[in-house]
Amino acid sequence: MTSRAKQHMIIAVDGPSAAGKGTIARAIAQELGFHFLDTGSLYRMVGLSMLVNGLDLADQDAAGNVAATLDLAAFSDADLRREPVAAAASRISAYPQVRANLLHFQQEFAQKPPGAVLDGRDIGTVVCPEADVKLYITASTEVRAERRFKELKAIDPSVTYEMVLADVKARDDRDTNRPVAPLLPARDAVIIDTTGLSIEEAVGEAMAAVAARQAKA
Ligand code: C5P
Repeated sequence: MTSRAKQHMIIAVDGPSAAGKGTIARAIAQELGFHFLDTGSLYRMVGLSMLVNGLDLADQDAAGNVAATLDLAAFSDADLRREPVAAAASRISAYPQVRANLLHFQQEFAQKPPGAVLDGRDIGTVVCPEADVKLYITASTEVRAERRFKELKAIDPSVTYEMVLADVKARDDRDTNRPVAPLLPARDAVIIDTTGLSIEEAVGEAMAAVAARQAKA
């Protein structure tokens, strides 16, 4: 590790939805005393802003403008977590102008001392390819849908498992197959499959990967 990286560490946590990356990334950030950014919330804010302002989700220029002028304090977390917002985020996140307009903010955030943990889809590949540790968190589609179903059911009792499974599959398909910054593990990522793991076990594996990197310094 270089002397710059010793003073300031960047940890990239990528993976598909509901694989556990947010939980793991938050836990690592807390343990290490690092800053944490959920980059999915930025895309969700753009999607929700489009929906509440009646803008057409197919309008790439409008989405790009929304991303360029985003008010980070405008929405509550409960609004951002809803499934229509996730679907809108997944659509607008395929637009190059949206990604370009959110890139600088994420890269600046990553430089915060003493270190930063960013979770998303393209942190280790596009936003911070120089990250000191790259984790790719995954789990089976069914387990991810089950986890998301439990979360959503609490805020919307009309949601069914089948609906959530279909949404998860559609989102995976869009995130993986888009031409710009598709979801894929960085070549040097440590892959953690959380399908059969408890939260504690998954966080333990992630912390072990960070410790292994620190030991190499
Ligand atoms: O992680 P989360 O489910 O909140 O992300 C919502 C959507 O935002 C994802 O489905 C994905 O399309 C998009 N996203 C992205 N790049 C990121 C983070 C999220 O394209 N770094």
